[in-house]
Amino acid sequence: MKLVYRVTQHQRLIIVEHALQQMQAFAQRRCWDSEAGGVLLGRHLLDSRDVVVDEVTTPQNTDRRGRFNFFRSSRHELEAHKRWNEEERTLAYLGLWHTHPEPDPTPSSVDQRDWIQAVSGDTFEGDRLFFPIIGTRDIRIWTLSRRGAFRKLKLENENEEDHGAS
Ligand SMILES: [Zn+2]
Repeated sequence: MKLVYRVTQHQRLIIVEHALQQMQAFAQRRCWDSEAGGVLLGRHLLDSRDVVVDEVTTPQNTDRRGRFNFFRSSRHELEAHKRWNEEERTLAYLGLWHTHPEPDPTPSSVDQRDWIQAVSGDTFEGDRLFFPIIGTRDIRIWTLSRRGAFRKLKLENENEEDHGAS
């Protein structure tokens, strides 16, 4: 299964099953589970404007993880860079994910500041970054553009087979 979200009229965000499983493995289903997070890695498709999340980095032992907070250490950048080299520099940095201990997650003010900082400070291709929050029931995704437009993405189709045509 993969998830397909509508970004703009011409662009979709597709999260493949492998990346979903990597993130969902850290969903805070038990009361002692700490927040987790990492970096989204994937591709900008050439034949469309779609973006595909192929894999993510998972918690590093240098992260600070609490029940209601997560501090992503710089080791995620090293890990992302290592994967980028291993994949012959085809993996793009697409955004940041983390978990929340609530069924239907919403971003905190800390999250929103973190995202603004990522879009203004990080190097990335394209117009925007993506910010999934993995709740105990739902996955919600926000996007922030370089111009500062902030929006929650709408889930389009849970089982689409074709990456290309729309
Ligand atoms: Zn958060």
